[in-house]
Amino acid sequence: MTAVDHHLPDAPEANDVTDAGPPDAPSTGPSNAEVSAADASAVFHSWSKQGGLQPLPLAGGLGTRVWDHDGNHYLDFSSQLVFTNMGHQHPKIIAGITEQLQTLTTVAPAHGNATRAEASRLITKRAPKGFSKVFFTNGGADANENAIRMARLVTGRDKVVSRYRSYHGNTGAAVVATGDWRRIPNEYARGHVHVFGPYLYRTEFWASTPEEECARALHHLERVIQAEGPSTVAAILLETIPGTAGIMVPPPGYLAGVRAIADRYDVLVILDEVMAGFGRAGEWFAFDAHEIRPDLITFAKGVNSGYVPVGGVVISDEIAHAFDDRVFPGGLTYSGHPLAAASIVATQRAMEEERVVENAATIGRDLLAPGLAELAAKHPVIGEARGVGVFWALELVADPDTREPLDPASVARLKADLIGRGLLPFVTDSRIHVVPPANVSADDVHQALAIYDDAFTAVGAR
Ligand code: PLP
Repeated sequence: MTAVDHHLPDAPEANDVTDAGPPDAPSTGPSNAEVSAADASAVFHSWSKQGGLQPLPLAGGLGTRVWDHDGNHYLDFSSQLVFTNMGHQHPKIIAGITEQLQTLTTVAPAHGNATRAEASRLITKRAPKGFSKVFFTNGGADANENAIRMARLVTGRDKVVSRYRSYHGNTGAAVVATGDWRRIPNEYARGHVHVFGPYLYRTEFWASTPEEECARALHHLERVIQAEGPSTVAAILLETIPGTAGIMVPPPGYLAGVRAIADRYDVLVILDEVMAGFGRAGEWFAFDAHEIRPDLITFAKGVNSGYVPVGGVVISDEIAHAFDDRVFPGGLTYSGHPLAAASIVATQRAMEEERVVENAATIGRDLLAPGLAELAAKHPVIGEARGVGVFWALELVADPDTREPLDPASVARLKADLIGRGLLPFVTDSRIHVVPPANVSADDVHQALAIYDDAFTAVGAR
C-alpha cells in the first residue's frame, strides 16, 4: 500500500472553474512557486519522504471552492482530509469563533466553561440515550487513545481488537490499533489484535454475496476473540464505516453481529466516528443507520468542520460513572479549549439550522449514487463505486475482471488531470474518494461529475 496522498502534484495551468470564489481573489502577494519554495524549506510534512514534495499551496477558500496564489480555482471534493463538512469559511462558524476570541480566548481544562458545556450538550444530543458526557481531546487520534484507555481501565483487560483496513490516528495506541501500513513502523504499543472486516469487492472470505461476507467476517471476529482469550479482550474498536481504508459501508447485520459478539464476552465496543460522523454518511452518527449501541464514540473532523483542532470521546453513563469515585488518569492542556468549543457550538447549530445532514443524505441518494454508478458503467477503469451520503469511493482497476488495482503512475496521472480540470480530489492507494462537504450543492455535484467523467475519458484514451 502507498501513503495516504496528502500531497498534490505541481500546480496546474490556470483552469476554467472561475465562476465562483471571491471577486477580490488575491492578484498580488506571493505566487504558488514562492509559497511552495518557502514551504519546502521550512515545513516537515506528514507521512511523506520530504525530498521532492511539491504541495499545492492554497491561498483561500469559500464554501466548496478553494483557490491558489496563481488565481486557479478548484472544487474541493476532498474536503481537505475529509473534514470540511460545512465547507470553507462558513460565516456562522467564523462568527462563533470570533465571539469566543473576544470573550475568553483560553482557559485551563480544570475550570468550568459555558461554551465547553454547550459543545458537550450539542454532541451528546446526537448520541443514543445514556450518553451524557464528553471528554475533549485535540483531535481524532487522542480521542481513540483515551477511549482505549477508558475501556482498559473499566474492564481491567488489555487487548483491543481492530481491523487491518483501518486508520485510528498517529498516537501510541491509536497508531497500533490502526491496521494500514502506518502501524508497522510505529508498533511499540502492546495488546493490539487485528481482524479483517467485510469488504466484498476484495473479499478475504471467498464470499460472493453481502450475506456470506457478513456472516464469515463475524465468524472470523468471534474466532479471533476466542483464540486470544475473551477474558483478555477489553474492546473492539471499529470505524463505523472504514474511511481512508476504502469507505466500506458495513453490510446489513454486521454491526449488530459485532455488538452480539461483544456482549457474549463482556467486551466493550468503541466506534470511531472521526471521519464518518457529523453528516459525512448522511447521518449525525454513521451508526444511526445500523443496529448497534456502542459503549464509547470517538469524533473529530466534521464536528466543527476542522476549523480548530479538536476531537473527543462521547462516554456512556455506565463508563462515565465508573470514574465517579476513581481517578481517570488522563488529560490534556487544551482539553475543551474555548475556541474549539465555540467552533463546535457554531457548527452544530448551523448544521441543524441548515439541515446539512439531510442534504448529505439526499445528495448521496439522488445524485452521487446514480451519478457515480453511471461513471462506473461507462469507464472500465472504475471497478466499483460504493458509499453513502457524501462518503464515496471509486475503486480504480487495471482490469475489471481480475480487479487488479490500477498502477500508481496511472493513478497519479488521473489525479493531476483532475486538478488540471479544477477539481481537488482525495486520492489514496488505487482509489478516488468522492467526499465533498456535507452542505455541497446539487450544482457543484453536477459540475464535479462532469469533471470526473472528462478525466476518466482522457485517461482511458491514453
Ligand atoms: N480516526 C479516523 C477514522 C480518521 O480518519 C482519523 C484521521 O484521518 C483519525 C482517527 C485521526 O484523527 P486526527 O488526525 O485528528 O488525530
